[in-house]
Amino acid sequence: MSKGADQTVRFADKDGDDLAPVTEAILRIQAQDGSLPAERALADRLNIKRHLLRRALLALRDRGALPTPLPRPRRPQPTTGGAGGIARDTNPVEVMELRLMVEPPLARLAAVRATPNQIAQMRALIEGGVRQGGSAADLHRMIAAASGNALARVIHDMIRTIDHEVRESVHAANLRPANDADEHRAIVEAIAGRDPEAAEAAMRVHLTSIHRVLSAILG
Ligand SMILES: [Zn+2]
Repeated sequence: MSKGADQTVRFADKDGDDLAPVTEAILRIQAQDGSLPAERALADRLNIKRHLLRRALLALRDRGALPTPLPRPRRPQPTTGGAGGIARDTNPVEVMELRLMVEPPLARLAAVRATPNQIAQMRALIEGGVRQGGSAADLHRMIAAASGNALARVIHDMIRTIDHEVRESVHAANLRPANDADEHRAIVEAIAGRDPEAAEAAMRVHLTSIHRVLSAILG
C-alpha cells in the first residue's frame, strides 16, 4: 500500500468530524436553491474535492436528508458521429433507399408550395451555381425547404449528413450519375411548372439513377 492510500483510509476513519461542515453546507445550499447543482459545480462552490463531496452526499442520503438520485436517463446516441454513430450501421445503398421514400414526396410538395424566390434560387444553382461552389446537395436541401414542411427539412438534413459520412467511409463521396445535371434540371422545371406529379416522378428517376450507380459499385 502506498503512503497516499494509507492516508486516505485514515482520513475516511474520521468521516464524522470531516464531513459535518460539508454536509451542513450542502443542506444550506439545498434549502436556499431548492435543489443541488451538479457534483462538479457543487464541489467548486464548496471548494472541496469531489471525493469528499461524494462521501458527504452519501452520508446525507444514508440519513435520509437528501433524496437518492434517480438513475440518469441514458443520453441518446448522436445521430451521426463517425465510428460511434449510426453511419457505422448503415451503407450508401440503404441511405438511397430511404431518400427514395422521402424526397420524391417532398419534390411533389415543393411544386405546390415553393415561393417564386425559392424557384429562382433553384434555377440559379443549376444554371451555374454548382460550378461556382454550390453543390448538388444544396439543390436537394432547397427542395426539402421548399416543401414547406419544417420537420421534413430537418429529417432531410439528418439523412444527408449520414449520407455524406457513409459515402466518405466507403470512398463513394463523389459518385453521381453521368446525367446528374439533366436530372436536376427536370426536377426544377417540374417544380417551376407547378406540376407535382412530374416533380415527384423526376425526383424518383434521379434518385433511382444514383441508387443504381451506388449499387453497381458497392453491391
Ligand atoms: Zn441530385
